[in-house]
Amino acid sequence: MYKKITALLLFGLFAYSCATVPLSGRRQLSIVSNAEVLPLSYDQYGEVLKDSKILTTTREGKQVVTVGRRIASAVEKYLEETGHSEITDGFAWEFNLLESEQVNAWCMPGGKVAFYTGILPVCQDETGIAVVMGHEVAHAIASHARERMSQGMVANGLLGGLQAAMGENPSLTQTIFLQAVGFGGQVGMLKFSRDQELEADQLGLIFMAIAGYDPREAPTFWERMNAQASGERPPEFLSTHPGPERRIDQLNEQMDKAMEYYQANRR
Ligand SMILES: [Zn+2]
Repeated sequence: MYKKITALLLFGLFAYSCATVPLSGRRQLSIVSNAEVLPLSYDQYGEVLKDSKILTTTREGKQVVTVGRRIASAVEKYLEETGHSEITDGFAWEFNLLESEQVNAWCMPGGKVAFYTGILPVCQDETGIAVVMGHEVAHAIASHARERMSQGMVANGLLGGLQAAMGENPSLTQTIFLQAVGFGGQVGMLKFSRDQELEADQLGLIFMAIAGYDPREAPTFWERMNAQASGERPPEFLSTHPGPERRIDQLNEQMDKAMEYYQANRR
C-alpha cells in the first residue's frame, strides 16, 4: 500500500516537474527553479573569484571575454528564434580568465563562466576557446546542474522543493547544490552524465557556429585534448569529460547541420 502511494507521489512529481531541453528535446527532472538556484550560483561564483587571480584584462583574458559575449548572443538569438527565451531569464553572463595550471573551464547556472589559463594551450586560438565556451555554456542552457540538483534532492527524500529542503536539512541541501555545480566532494569538479556531456556537445556545436566560429574545429580540439591524456599530467577537463571517441563521432555526425548555421552566420 505504502509502495503504491510512494509510486503515485513520485509519478505526480515527475509529471509536474519536468522541463524540456531545447534542441535535443530531452525531458528532464526539474524540481528547483532558476529563481531559487541562481542566487546560490552567483554567491558561489563570487567565492571562486575572490580566491583567484583574475586575468580578464590581459590579451588572452580579453579573448575569453570576446568569445564569451559572442557565444552568449548566439545563444540568445537561437533561443529567441526557437521560442525558448525564458531559459536565460535572470542570467547574468560573466566571463573570467583565472590563473591556474588546471586544464579546465566551466559555466555555472546563470552564465557564470571561468576559464583557467591551463586550458588555453589546448584551445590554441579564439576558435578553440569557442569550442570549450560553446560546450560549457550549453551545460547551463540545458540546466544540467539544476537537473543534477533535482535528482540529488529526490534521492535524499527532499521532495518539497528548495525552500522546504533548506528548512528540513540546510547543510545537506547546500552539499547537494555544491555537488551539482561541481564544487562538492573530493573530486573538486563534477562529472556530468554521459548523456549530458553529449547533449552539451550537440548544443555547443550549434552555438559556436551561430557565433560565426568554424564548427569543424570542435572535433580537432577534442583530438588535441585527447593527445594530452597520455601525458604525465592528464588534464582535469578529461576526468570530467570522458569518452572523447564517442564525442568526436557524434560531433562529426552533426557537422552538416552545424555547417548550415555557420554558413548562414559567417562573418
Ligand atoms: Zn561538459
